[in-house]
Amino acid sequence: MTENFIGIDFGGTNIKIGCFSADLKLLWKTSIPTDAHMGPAVVIDRMVDTIKSMATNSKVPLATIKAIGIGSPGPAYYSQGILIRCANLPKFTDVPISKMLKKKLGKPVVLENDANAACYGEFVAGQGKNIKNMVFFTLGTGIGSGIISDGKLLRGSGDNAAELGHTIVNVNGRLCGCGQRGCAEAYASASNTARRATEVIEAGAKSSLKAILEKNGQITSKDVYEHLAKGDQLAKKITDETAEVLAVLCVNALHGTEPEKIVFAGGMIAAGKPLLNRITYYFKQHIWKIKQEDSVEICFATLGEDAGIIGAAALAREL
Ligand SMILES: [Zn+2]
Repeated sequence: MTENFIGIDFGGTNIKIGCFSADLKLLWKTSIPTDAHMGPAVVIDRMVDTIKSMATNSKVPLATIKAIGIGSPGPAYYSQGILIRCANLPKFTDVPISKMLKKKLGKPVVLENDANAACYGEFVAGQGKNIKNMVFFTLGTGIGSGIISDGKLLRGSGDNAAELGHTIVNVNGRLCGCGQRGCAEAYASASNTARRATEVIEAGAKSSLKAILEKNGQITSKDVYEHLAKGDQLAKKITDETAEVLAVLCVNALHGTEPEKIVFAGGMIAAGKPLLNRITYYFKQHIWKIKQEDSVEICFATLGEDAGIIGAAALAREL
């Protein structure tokens, strides 16, 4: 009998759901607003109703669905399928999400960290094809990450390994949202790249970005890269600093797990070659001089926003 798999990307704003064949061909996908304020029971019911109605409308019967994977922000007891609490999901405290979904749909469910799920998607269907060791970073509000070691996701003793965005790149440096000081995320996420630009402009630095700040009340990382392309010197300085922190992250990740590829994903990779070239440049500046690691490739992800649902479905396939 045909076996298909559901992958869910459970975000604070939207829930993306995709149905995949056993060889990960997309059969259908959809997205619904999360509406987390309605509480776990209602949100999970809406998820279940969506899966059932899509199964009917797409003519991929529910009976062919073998298992369900769900990627979610943490922290969570992933192996037990329990969300502990999520900043972007109010009312979701100690929610046994896997058990609730399993009860409603009668299928096995696996819960995974959202960055890990996207990492696994990119590993099985994107940049990670044909390799066994990969490090993955997603650059958005924060820096999510995942590590594939010898073909498997690294989960750690408490399911929360591979939080490389919170590795410290500057002792006693900028305060991070996590409470530590000097995390890579506090400098080089998309949000914090924009924030650093805002801070120096508010302190009096000259830049063509100043007009954007005055007009829109804020600067985004997209603005920074657009003004970099126009030759703005401050945008160049901010981009250099972001790239250097990301390069240091790569060096540290290399020493930790020796991947074949280090893959960047998330909204900020829209910056393209100017960002990738700078990361590669600084990586070569900071890399171990006693053993130059020419074999590691730093690149951008290829799956875009579907990485999360593909990865979650691929994890469900392994149940
Ligand atoms: Zn942190």
